[in-house]
Amino acid sequence: MHFDDYSISYEIKKNLGKLGFKKPTDIQFKSIPPIIKGEDVLAIAQTGTGKTAAFAIPIIDKIHRKKSTSRKDGVKCLVMVPTRELAKQIWEVFEMLSKHTRVKAYCIYGGVEQDAQIAKLEENVDVLIATPGRMFDLVSQGHLILDRIDTLVLDEADHMLDLGFLKDIYDIKKKLPKKHQTLFFSATINEGIKKLAYSLVENAIRIQVSPKDPVSKNVNHSVAFIKMDDKRFFLERVIKEHPESKILVFVRTKVRAERVHKAMERVNIKTITIHSDKEQKERFDVMKQFKTGEVKVLIATDVSARGIDIPNVEYVVNYDLPDQSENYVHRVGRTGRGREKGFAVSFCSDEEKNTLKEIETFMQKEITVLDIDKGEYHDTLDFTEDANSNWKALIKDNEDFLSKQKKPNKKKKRQ
Ligand code: ADP
Ligand code: MG
Repeated sequence: MHFDDYSISYEIKKNLGKLGFKKPTDIQFKSIPPIIKGEDVLAIAQTGTGKTAAFAIPIIDKIHRKKSTSRKDGVKCLVMVPTRELAKQIWEVFEMLSKHTRVKAYCIYGGVEQDAQIAKLEENVDVLIATPGRMFDLVSQGHLILDRIDTLVLDEADHMLDLGFLKDIYDIKKKLPKKHQTLFFSATINEGIKKLAYSLVENAIRIQVSPKDPVSKNVNHSVAFIKMDDKRFFLERVIKEHPESKILVFVRTKVRAERVHKAMERVNIKTITIHSDKEQKERFDVMKQFKTGEVKVLIATDVSARGIDIPNVEYVVNYDLPDQSENYVHRVGRTGRGREKGFAVSFCSDEEKNTLKEIETFMQKEITVLDIDKGEYHDTLDFTEDANSNWKALIKDNEDFLSKQKKPNKKKKRQ
């Protein structure tokens, strides 16, 4: 089926054409009709398979048809997301798909001044994409009215229903008109969260596209066993062997992000970092530099694991394995998006072998192991430009040399 065959508004079809979207993806094909009908939907589909447009197309279409003019008549759809970057990205998709329609979208998030957001909300906003914190602030200050909302979307739904956000979701549900449509979208979900999702809706949930393997088939992913202290040399090698590629590197903590950045600086590799300790303006700026390819290597914490859609990321490197198993799927899913193909490699140290097992249990599948023979492993350590490490190697060589010269005294065995 072609988008032209759908009975959606002409303007949306034109916008889809401009984006080069001809045919709906699987999840779009399955979710657009029930959403248009007004049913509640729980949609689970692999990373990078077009879930954003799967809810944006029917939402824009419904509002465009109902609205007789472009005048202000309150927010009708609320899309809740876990991170600010994701809020902005989803807003951009709504903007592109709603051009020349009567629908206006906007996004709000924390970490920036709220005045401009308040001014915008006074205008004409139909679809609001929001992170929970700022949204509740603006509701409690009376700048955001929720009583016209008839559609609630939870993107990255399993995460939004997880401990940190669950109370927010209950609170928001209470504030919405009793009759509203709820849409859940994610690449991962477990039984507990699925039950929770079901308990939150009145209508029977209509669809579920639940692939056995949550990692997109476009991602070739594997794991390499590397000692903790040697990881930086392997990262250096991966980057230097692919100088033209965009590479996204995930680490466990903010401190490690800065540390790896410094280690790469020492070997003349330019990288940028993103994590929650950075000012929001800088975070957006970093994303832009990575998006345009101005800087080719981005070192990120899990704040960037979910939902982020950056074109042409050829490699994802899990420099550290993620603590939460589902984030493995989300991290490696930053490559191989849409029709692109991508590679992901995880550096697993001895200390992380249990985490790897947990991830494999979560995926009900083993991850292919990259065989690195001893020679290759040592070649990688020799490959480094790190002056410190060469210096250390020299000292070590010297020590080895000296110890060989000393004749061991067999009688005096040291304990
Ligand atoms: P998901 O939310 O499933 O991870 P996104 O909605 O971020 O995926 O979309 C992933 C990529 O696929 C985006 O770059 C988007 O432009 C592209 N895409 C979405 N729908 C289509 C389509 N029907 N045809 C071609 N490309 C598409
Ligand atoms: Mg998404």
